Amino acid sequence: MGKARALTERAPDRRDAATSAERIATGLHKISLVLRHAAWQEHGRSGLTPTQAQLLSVLAASGGGRTLSSLATELGVTAATASDSLSALERKGLVEKRRAEGDGRALAVRPTPAGRHLASRLALWPDFLLGALDELDALERELLQRALVKMIRSLQEKGRIPVARMCVGCRFFRPYVHADALAPHHCAFVDAPFGDAELRIDCADQAPLPPDEADALWRDFLAGSEIRPSRKEKR
Ligand code: SF4
Repeated sequence: MGKARALTERAPDRRDAATSAERIATGLHKISLVLRHAAWQEHGRSGLTPTQAQLLSVLAASGGGRTLSSLATELGVTAATASDSLSALERKGLVEKRRAEGDGRALAVRPTPAGRHLASRLALWPDFLLGALDELDALERELLQRALVKMIRSLQEKGRIPVARMCVGCRFFRPYVHADALAPHHCAFVDAPFGDAELRIDCADQAPLPPDEADALWRDFLAGSEIRPSRKEKR
């Protein structure tokens, strides 16, 4: 009887977990739909497809020229898709191809002055999304950022999304080295403490660790949150 009762008590937990994941997935799907729609509207006004706009933004943010393969990897698209989009941008006079420095056989793509000007006008994120995030309080944002980092890393490991330049894979990241629950981590690149809400998902200064060291860093990050008092508990 006791065992049967225990089994019947555990079953709803498993069902709850499944429906909770589905509810969150439904929410993420709804947000992705509205973002995709907004991207077509916003970039359509500039005469670009969302992929062309993303490529132009990435190129404008990069210091030097970029190869086709590195752009395709960063955007998570095939080389053929990146090539088509770059050709369209080139026809519009927004990018140009030159020989890559240090490798005369490879071509590096860089934005023209007109391309840089247009990239500076492309809104990275729609105002309505930033407005909705502003509705979250500091703790909610911190938890959301941490959850996003965990989800992105899991998807990265399964090869579902391109490798992101995150703190949790960076040689400058020192998780949980400070006693301050608001800013327990340290970035050795800028030599400053920071908290979960500032965990970076696409940092231009990230220096990737080899896979085994990145795995060890990830384990430290997870273990640190278990032994340190959380910000919520501190309140
Ligand atoms: S350099 Fe960037 S990715 Fe690396 S720890 Fe600092 S903020 Fe994070």
